[in-house]
Amino acid sequence: MTFDLTPEQDQLRDAVRALGRRYGHGYFVEKAKAGEHTTELWAEAGRLGYLGVNIPTEYGGGGGGITELAIVCEELAAAGCPLLLLVVSPAIAATVLSRHGTEEQRKRHLPGLADGSQKIVFAITEPEAGSNFHRLGTVARRDGEGWLLNGRKCYISGVDEAGHVLVVARTEDSATGKLKPALFLVPTDAAGLTRSKLDMEIVSPENQFLLYLDDVRVPADALLGESLDAGLPALFAGLNPERITVAAMGAGTGRYAIERASGYTATRKVWGGRSIGSHQGVSHPLAHAAVQVELTRLMIQKAATLYDAGRDLEAGVAGNMAKYAAGDAAALAVDTAVQVLGGAGMTTEYGVATLLGAVRAGRIAPVSREMILNFVAQHVLGQDKSY
Ligand SMILES: Cc1cc2nc3c(=O)[nH]c(=O)nc-3n(C[C@H](O)[C@H](O)[C@H](O)COP(=O)(O)OP(=O)(O)OC[C@H]3O[C@@H](n4cnc5c(N)ncnc54)[C@H](O)[C@@H]3O)c2cc1C
Repeated sequence: MTFDLTPEQDQLRDAVRALGRRYGHGYFVEKAKAGEHTTELWAEAGRLGYLGVNIPTEYGGGGGGITELAIVCEELAAAGCPLLLLVVSPAIAATVLSRHGTEEQRKRHLPGLADGSQKIVFAITEPEAGSNFHRLGTVARRDGEGWLLNGRKCYISGVDEAGHVLVVARTEDSATGKLKPALFLVPTDAAGLTRSKLDMEIVSPENQFLLYLDDVRVPADALLGESLDAGLPALFAGLNPERITVAAMGAGTGRYAIERASGYTATRKVWGGRSIGSHQGVSHPLAHAAVQVELTRLMIQKAATLYDAGRDLEAGVAGNMAKYAAGDAAALAVDTAVQVLGGAGMTTEYGVATLLGAVRAGRIAPVSREMILNFVAQHVLGQDKSY
């Protein structure tokens, strides 16, 4: 057993850290408050090959795995730039395409995802279905050679920045007549696809949208994969990378908050010559948060290693646990940082309260802590399903 990164992974971590620090949290917040995107950072990360680390080399990527992509997510977040679209585009969409797309779809989409010139976002959540994906109501019906899509999606991130949205719909199985899931690559400018931006209490340059699909016509090759049978495995293929990279973002955000806070408390003096960090009422909550973040990082490393070794089922358990731990650790770290910074903690300048909304959302999305507890209770502890 080794806990060391390879020399290449080490280099990647240092290089991404340097890039993230050049931009920093100030840049991230400035973009968010101006209603703009982190276009420069995304483009530079793409040019340097960081957005395609997990994409096969024959499609312009780095040929690495989710371990490498988790490093990118964590280090950018640790520099104060937690980019949710890393989870959506390189982690979910690129994995789904690499594993289950047709050769033509891989050739068409992966090089653009790898160099950052294209983004593909992911739409599964629906107002009526919520956490219960079995209730998905977006339906795809045959329309000549192609398909006609109808339905509604909510909280879909980054639609305004993406060329395509990977829509999870249901189709009628010709053999059984039952509805089964299928994924469609829908251009974001397709006729009949409209969106409205949701007002979210999260300081982020990335936005969430309601999506309306009203008789959206797509050609036959918009269906992801060779046949309808690709739908279910393709849907599952995206889950582990999503859990692991979102956990890495949480761990990075936790590290960022603890670093900001401990730098402050080590030098701030209000009781004579001693720093406020010398008081255990200040230092212990920070140390506790640091322990939680470090434990989370270990679980992320385990989940990513299992995933990259092709051990999907075990990676599923570890990835869910890592995501659960990261949600709590990041929320704890940011809340603790705000507290020990005192009034400065609530200012924009000190750059921690700006993360409160994002880390709170990390306990809900992309899968809530309750649904992870359901998963662990059922699949690890052998309990009956409660719903
Ligand atoms: C910032 C953000 C970005 C997002 N981006 C995307 C995106 O890009 N694409 C996308 O498809 N979706 C996205 N989502 C949606 C996200 O995945 C959902 O919000 C999440 O899956 C929860 O679904 P819901 O909001 O419908 O909650 P609900 O399913 O309505 O659940 C509400 C509450 O009840 C709990 N609950 C529900 N069922 C059970 C049960 N059986 N047992 C115990 N507790 C239960 C949940 O844990 C939750 O706390 C995003 C959400 C946010 C906040």
